Amino acid sequence: MDEARTRKSIHLFDLDDTLIHTNARVLVRDAQGGTLRVLSTAEFTGYRPADGEVLDFSEFSDLGILSRGIVVKYTRTIIDTILRYGTRSEFGILTARADKKLHAPFLIRLFRSLFGVRLANEYIFAVSDARFSGYKDRAAAAAAGVPFSKLSVSQRKALVIAQDLVGRGFNDISFYDDSRENLESFKVMRQAFPHVAYRPHFIDPTWKARLQEFWDSGAARKTLIKGAGSARIILDHHSRRSAEMESALADLQAGDPIKLDTVPVWILCEGGKFYLSREAVA
Ligand SMILES: [Mg+2]
Repeated sequence: MDEARTRKSIHLFDLDDTLIHTNARVLVRDAQGGTLRVLSTAEFTGYRPADGEVLDFSEFSDLGILSRGIVVKYTRTIIDTILRYGTRSEFGILTARADKKLHAPFLIRLFRSLFGVRLANEYIFAVSDARFSGYKDRAAAAAAGVPFSKLSVSQRKALVIAQDLVGRGFNDISFYDDSRENLESFKVMRQAFPHVAYRPHFIDPTWKARLQEFWDSGAARKTLIKGAGSARIILDHHSRRSAEMESALADLQAGDPIKLDTVPVWILCEGGKFYLSREAVA
């Protein structure tokens, strides 16, 4: 078999707010154990602890909270679609959580019961797991590198993709995450692996992050590549007009723009194409 031509692919999923929504929180404590703040999983994604702050993940060790979590419908649809077309890809989990031993059996069971898919224990990576990060620290020390445990979550995720997936022969890697920073991190080192097809997928089921990004970008317009499909999702989560979706879409197609309720952004349709716009007209 020609090694270079063999395709070995994996679909890799972040856990919190990509695969599952939970109400588990990350506590930020001071050195004495006092609680300084309480972060949702979404807030934690972008949080940089200050010196002396200690992150407490104990709520994530509560399997009760995990199993009451809701599987993100949008991501579930992605997995169903991958399976419907038939795939020989592996599936994996790449999470910032700790305690792999606790999470792995739950995740393996979840994949089997929801999707009928065998999730292999060896492709579940919990980058805050003390055992895993200790092992990585020793490897880094041997190479005189920065300890794994001192890297950001995004950097740790990128390193796992490089060392534990590319290093084991994967050359087609789709990564699904609700953090752009996590998705970008491997991209930065992608040049080091020209034979690897890396496919980052931003998970933003309600378009909340992308609408904000559009507004912050200052751009006048953005094409909705998936057209009416995206327009539906945006109206559904950001406009009262979702109560009468078909007439809202008909108005758009007739040339009447719709202003969203959550951000000062319009949706409009021109020549059969849908756009986000800062103004009601071009
Ligand atoms: Mg996440």
